[in-house]
Amino acid sequence: MKNIYSTPFYANIIKNLEIAGMVNDTKNATIQRLKFPKRCIVVSIPVRMDSGEIKIFDGYRVQHSQTLGPFKGGIRFHKGVNLAEVVSLASLMTLKNSLLGLPLGGAKGGVAVEPKNLSRGELERLTRGFTSAIGPFIGPDKDIPAPDVGTDSQTMAWMLDTYSTESGFSQTGIVTGKPLAIGGSKGREAATGLGVVLNIQKVLEKQNKSAEESSLAIQGFGKVGMHAAIEAHKIGLKVVAISDISTALYDANGLNIPELVGFVKKKNLLKDYDSAKQINNDELLTLPVDILAPCALDGVINSDNMDKIKAKIIVEGANGPTTSKASSYLFKEKKVIIIPDILANGGGVIVSYFEWVQDIVWLFWSEEEVKSKLKMIIDRCFDRVWDCAKKHSVDIRTAAIATALKRLEKAMLLRGQI
Ligand code: GLU
Repeated sequence: MKNIYSTPFYANIIKNLEIAGMVNDTKNATIQRLKFPKRCIVVSIPVRMDSGEIKIFDGYRVQHSQTLGPFKGGIRFHKGVNLAEVVSLASLMTLKNSLLGLPLGGAKGGVAVEPKNLSRGELERLTRGFTSAIGPFIGPDKDIPAPDVGTDSQTMAWMLDTYSTESGFSQTGIVTGKPLAIGGSKGREAATGLGVVLNIQKVLEKQNKSAEESSLAIQGFGKVGMHAAIEAHKIGLKVVAISDISTALYDANGLNIPELVGFVKKKNLLKDYDSAKQINNDELLTLPVDILAPCALDGVINSDNMDKIKAKIIVEGANGPTTSKASSYLFKEKKVIIIPDILANGGGVIVSYFEWVQDIVWLFWSEEEVKSKLKMIIDRCFDRVWDCAKKHSVDIRTAAIATALKRLEKAMLLRGQI
């Protein structure tokens, strides 16, 4: 168990917790409790491959905290998934849900697999096997999974079907981020990307800058990055760079985002798009842009490239893209404003929460309603965190975690947990 807590990713989170704890005099007992997840579920999933052979995959669900409500967090399918990573991501969900004021705890799950190497049938059998294996521990009022890296609304549809079949009746509230036709919410697909852009608008507003005069580079063009690009383009922000696993594209005058969305939706890779200059993913991070939005994986802004970063604003669409060392270097030495993951990518879980509520009452909202409520929550949280950062002269991440800790500590005290 010990080596789970000694990974660089988790060490970063613990360090950030300890620093933020000092802002509001958080009790040591609160920090100590949050360093450990409530429950770690480790499963093996046998899957019959198309070749007839049976392959065993490792799967995890980490339930970090249920102080504020049922466990909530995504399921990641990625070759690098391991227990330590899922523990780290689950703890971020606890902080995120607390910061956003949602009545939800924090969890995360994952399977160590490269989904692109599996056929659709193999992927479906893997998803169903994983759902059965974690089935006794999840439920619409216990623990509600959602999509994350490498999973999507189809994955959620298979999870919903497996869970419902095994429990004997339809359980739409078991997952969020599912297709509209089976109880999904309008606006969920675009929610994380839209949230990233709502955060960008708030920073620009605080600095009296307009979207039209600002440039943005986005790492990743998947569920988060693509929708961030679409929403940024809509408000007149110049999206000068995007990337996927194959390459990064750059055009100082702004990329043609609608055309690129159509191109990628036809299952094309960006390396096959020939109307923009190709650069590599590392170069994208160090471009001379106003805003950088890392929307892919963790640890991409680190001690190796922190001194080369030129953006003055970083908005973390991914979970944990900036290491603790790079965060404090960029804040202290370069005065970079980093809008941290738990605020910047909160749009996803906010609309997941809306979806869960709609499933409970069987009454569905319009897209406008979803979007305006999402904006209301993000704007309110942003202002609260911004004011906290100014009041205590700390960076935005520290202020965001401090705000999340305050709400958690109050609930923990009331429940007699500390
Ligand atoms: N996977 C997303 C996140 O990291 C969404 C989680 C959810 O909707 O439960 O925030």
